[in-house]
Amino acid sequence: MSAPKPPDPRTYGHHIAGGRVDGPPLERRDPARGEVVARYAAGTTDDVNAAVGAAAAAFAAASWRRIPATARAELLEKLAELLERNADRLAALDSEEVGKPLRFARGDLALGIGHVRHAAALARTTKGDAYTGLAPGYTVLATREPAGVVGIITPWNFPALILLQKLPYAIAAGCTLVVKPSEFTSSSTLEIAALCEEAGFPPGVVNVVTGTGAAAGHPLVTHPLISYVSFTGSTRVGREVMRASADSLTRVGLELGGKAANVVFADADLDAAADAVVFGAFANQGESCVAGARLLVDAAIGDEFTAAVVSRAAALSVGMPDDPRSDIGALIHHGHRDGVHAAVLAGVENGGKVLAGGRPPHAPELAAGAFYEPTVIASVGRESPVFQREIFGPVLSVTTFGSEEEALALANGTAYGLAQSVWTTDLDRAFEMSRGLEAGTVWVNTTSDGSPALSFGGVKQSGFGREGGEEGLREFTEYKTVQFRGEPRVSPFRRPDEKP
Ligand code: NDP
Repeated sequence: MSAPKPPDPRTYGHHIAGGRVDGPPLERRDPARGEVVARYAAGTTDDVNAAVGAAAAAFAAASWRRIPATARAELLEKLAELLERNADRLAALDSEEVGKPLRFARGDLALGIGHVRHAAALARTTKGDAYTGLAPGYTVLATREPAGVVGIITPWNFPALILLQKLPYAIAAGCTLVVKPSEFTSSSTLEIAALCEEAGFPPGVVNVVTGTGAAAGHPLVTHPLISYVSFTGSTRVGREVMRASADSLTRVGLELGGKAANVVFADADLDAAADAVVFGAFANQGESCVAGARLLVDAAIGDEFTAAVVSRAAALSVGMPDDPRSDIGALIHHGHRDGVHAAVLAGVENGGKVLAGGRPPHAPELAAGAFYEPTVIASVGRESPVFQREIFGPVLSVTTFGSEEEALALANGTAYGLAQSVWTTDLDRAFEMSRGLEAGTVWVNTTSDGSPALSFGGVKQSGFGREGGEEGLREFTEYKTVQFRGEPRVSPFRRPDEKP
């Protein structure tokens, strides 16, 4: 049985070297009811220095450096068990702080636990390369060494899941870490850090400093002992992180924004496609980097297919995150909700027609929350800001195309390249489109799909680096060659006639 969610408002300090370090409180109001639900500590450079110092000491300790990868796998398996036992409580925290329906927060936890188990399996099969034929008596072992002390910076939309797409792979690689979660959604990260120690991780291996990006994130990125930063967030802040890491030449992995399209051809299974377009656009209130925020539909079926999507969008239930009937919860805060509405108005100014939503819901019980109706805007041209900008809310634009070439040009016609979906029953077309789409992930006849085994990341302004799966583990390592000679090598300075 999961322990109950701590009573509101819950109060936390930073999590450093296994202990609690308090700081001035940062209040989090839940976005659905507007009540104070949590107080976290506002982190400073001093807190970051203390956390990085703890992680560096833990990394240097023989107890961690010498621990075999199979023992790290056991720690991760124990963590997975504890996460399963606490999944309901952790999901309730994320649901409340993000504003997302509880059942979806539970799904996030299940996927995150899958990552922990997969990382454990990868740790058990850690291997390198051996070069045995390069020259007589010359053998080279190539190994993957832990990157060292790593910084992990996460956004607010999937707090536990995005942490669990990074942390277990860092541990599998043998790193120690400092996490800076979003200032809006830090509770589950702090609770997971405590579970790491309950699982047996030595104190200092996992540390958390809460607070704002400017006060706690920036000093983490620029700290000289940090050897790799794994960042997930907006493209704007991703650029700042890359600039800030330039002086110390710290390696960074950037998982940034997206503007995915669902490209629907007339030969597709249109019922399944309409269901998926609506799920892809509106799941997690559209606050998802892989949200299928653009529908590109074959002009031959444009009106009929758009009508199917609009009726499904209008049938979604917007409601309280803890109400099991809710499909869509609240957006992260009122300022963000107002930004989403402004983006819809800009779309209308640019010729778009609102076919569903386009405003906050009227229901009086939702009046205090940052809610917004699932919105469909048709007749959206390629130059419209609704087509180009990541709105990160429940807004789907509709654009028609006349040919495969036009569909490809439209799909690739934004600065982003995270994910794309194609709907067709024509195999040749599916392959042709999947080759041409600029994205780290292409879905054919599916959307928002995945598995912990698959490495995920973007191209173009969606960033670089991969997380999850084998590629995700590699990000937390450095490649080292160890070269052996059976007979010591004769110095090239020595002349052939010279005696040793
Ligand atoms: P932000 O980029 O605003 O913030 C992300 C994290 O970075 C937060 O913890 C933030 O702190 C921190 N941060 C802010 N400024 C700095 C800085 N100067 N130095 C270091 N850290 C800093 O993103 P959001 O939290 O608003 O999340 C939404 C964005 O995340 C969207 O663009 C979305 O597409 C993207 N995202 C990408 C995913 C992917 O895998 N590609 C997955 C999920 C989301 P704080 O906010 O607490 O001040």
